[in-house]
Amino acid sequence: MTALGQRLLRRIEAAGPLGIADYMAACLFDPGHGYYTTREPFGAAGDFTTAPEISQMFGELLAAWLVAAWRDAGSPPGAVVAEIGPGRGTMMKDVARTVARLAPDLAASARFALVEASPRLREVQRATLAGAGTVFSWHDSIAALPAGPLFIAANELFDALPMRQFVKTAAGWRERVVGIGPDGGLAFMAGAAGIDPALLPPDAAAAAPGAIVEAAPAREALMETVAERLAAGGGAGLFVDYGYVGPALGDTLQALRRHRYDDPLAAPGEADLTSHVDFAPLAAAASRHGLSAEIAAQGDFLLGLGLLERAGALGARQDEAGRERIRQAVERLAGPAGMGSLFKVMSVRTPGTGATLSTRAD
Ligand code: SAH
Repeated sequence: MTALGQRLLRRIEAAGPLGIADYMAACLFDPGHGYYTTREPFGAAGDFTTAPEISQMFGELLAAWLVAAWRDAGSPPGAVVAEIGPGRGTMMKDVARTVARLAPDLAASARFALVEASPRLREVQRATLAGAGTVFSWHDSIAALPAGPLFIAANELFDALPMRQFVKTAAGWRERVVGIGPDGGLAFMAGAAGIDPALLPPDAAAAAPGAIVEAAPAREALMETVAERLAAGGGAGLFVDYGYVGPALGDTLQALRRHRYDDPLAAPGEADLTSHVDFAPLAAAASRHGLSAEIAAQGDFLLGLGLLERAGALGARQDEAGRERIRQAVERLAGPAGMGSLFKVMSVRTPGTGATLSTRAD
C-alpha cells in the first residue's frame, strides 16, 4: 500500500468510510501525496497521453473555433483567452500561436490566462510557455480570472473532478464508499446515505442489486461558475472529455497507471483516477444561465473544423515518415478506434451569435 493509502486507512479507522468524491479528491490533490500534486502524468513516460500531447493540430483547431466565436461576438476588445486544467501547457502554447496567426487583432488586445489547481503543474506550464512570446497569467479559480469577455477551453478537466457513486442494495440505493475490508485493506462498500430520486436514471428501478449510478456535483458547480461568468460578461467555452450524454447506469471509475488500467484502490496517489463525464447535467447547468450548449463527438468536431486540411498542410512540409506520424495522429484524434467517438466536445455560448460547433475562423 502507498503512503497515502496508509494514511487513508488510518483516517477511515478514526472517522469512518470515505465517499468516492473524498477518496478521489485525496488521491488526486492531497498536497503531499496526490497524483496531480506530485507526479508527471502525461506522455509516453507517464500514465496517459491526452489529445494536445498527440498533435499540435488539436489545440490549433480549438483555437480556430475560439477565434470564430470571438468574431461572432463582435470582436470585443480586452477579451480573456483562458484554459482550465492545462496539464503541461501544450494546448495553450498551440492556442496562443494560432490566435496570433489567425487573429492578430485578438492576440494584441487579449489577456491569456490559465487556471490550474496544482502548483507543480503551474511550474511545468511556465516552462512550456516560456518562449511563446505571449504574456500569460495564472489563477486559482474562474472567479480570479481578469474581467472581460471570456473565451475558454478545457481538455480532460471534468473527468478529473471528484464524483459520487450510489449502489443498489436490498435496502434501496446507498452512497458507495471506501471502507476497510475483511483483509484490512481498502474496499468498496455501501454506506448509509441514500440518493435524491431525481438523480436516478429512468431504468434505475429495474436495476439489479450491485448496480451503480454516478453524480458529479463538483463538475456541475464548476460549469455553473463558468456559465454565470459567460452569461454576465459574454464569451464562449469549449469542453472536451471522455464521456456520454446521460443519465445512465454504470461504474466508470477507473485508474490508469503507466498506460494500463489498474484497480482504483490499489495505489492511492500513484495512479490517475478518472470517470466518464455525463455531459447532460453540464449542458443543463449552462442552459439555466441562458446559454446555448451543443455536444458533438470529438471526431466530427475536428473533421468539421478542417482536421484533414490542416494535416495536409502540415504534411506537405514533412518527409514520408513525418506524414505517417500525422496520419496516425489524425486516426487517434478523430478515428472511431481512437478518441473520435468516445470523446465529446461541448460548446457553450451566449445565444444570438452564429458560431456553431462547426464554425471556424479562416
Ligand atoms: N488539459 C491537459 C491536462 C488534463 S489533466 C491535457 O489535456 O493534457 C487535468 C488537469 O486539470 C491537470 O492540469 C489538473 O491539475 C487540473 N485540474 C484538476 N482540477 C482542477 C480544478 N478544480 N481547477 C483547475 N485545474 C484543475
